[in-house]
Amino acid sequence: MGSLSGKNAVVTGSTSGIGLAYARAFAAAGANVVINGFGSPEDIEKERAKIESDFGVKAIYSPADMTKPAEIAGMIALGEKTFGSVDVLVNNAGIQFVSPIEEFPPEKWDQIIAINLSSAFHAIRAAVPGMKKKGWGRIINTASAHSLVASPFKSAYVSAKHGIAGLTKTVALEVATHKITCNCISPGYVWTPLVEKQIPDTMKARNLTREQVINDVLLDAQPTKEFVTSEQVAALALFLCSDDAAQITGTNLSIDGGWTAE
Ligand code: NAD
Repeated sequence: MGSLSGKNAVVTGSTSGIGLAYARAFAAAGANVVINGFGSPEDIEKERAKIESDFGVKAIYSPADMTKPAEIAGMIALGEKTFGSVDVLVNNAGIQFVSPIEEFPPEKWDQIIAINLSSAFHAIRAAVPGMKKKGWGRIINTASAHSLVASPFKSAYVSAKHGIAGLTKTVALEVATHKITCNCISPGYVWTPLVEKQIPDTMKARNLTREQVINDVLLDAQPTKEFVTSEQVAALALFLCSDDAAQITGTNLSIDGGWTAE
């Protein structure tokens, strides 16, 4: 019996990177999972089937687009209909865009705020009634070190992540008496497609080589000079789902190699 045996989790943006690590960690602990995100249908089906065969739980896929409130509500409804409840909600879908503010496309701003911040509002809004009914729930939002400190050229991302920290605290206060906790996790740099994709724009915005971006921007931000791993972030989320973490709510937990301690 895993620690999440009998529980059901929805993880947004879990077709790659940190989200996939969350989904696998929850499944390893015995939870059924709803995975979500973009990718080729073949790759997504392969990951879904692998979760089921590796861990003996049920895994289903929701194609909900995190810019579309009705699809987000539909994803929560799918989890509740298929499994009976959504006990753990992880708002993790995210994208990044790097550009000087005066060239930042307004439509990119809107897209980043929608995916990285508003989607969490819509998913929490849809999931809380079921959690209240059951009298138990865990809401975890993937924020970022950028919820605490800024970096140049990431105006939308930094704003969305600061917003996630505020949303987390507010929801935590609203649901506290229902045995529902709401926390955010703030990773430093984790080597995922999201980080890799921002390298060319960072090279351009800062006039640096690829090597300089990796060593002098990404790794240099973290006193440990190492990337955080997706599995380390997932292990922290799993702890937040445990009974030992029942009194941890409204917090922003850093896992960033010391970045935000400086
Ligand atoms: P990733 O690119 O590997 O994964 C992002 C996921 O979000 C993918 O599954 C993608 O399909 C999904 N997604 C994107 N747009 C979507 C949409 N409109 N609808 C549904 N799904 C969508 O990136 P990652 O690094 O694993 O990022 C996951 C989260 O972690 C993000 O919120 C990101 O901001 C945060 N984060 C990442 C790092 C890092 O260094 N990688 C650091 C701090 C925080």
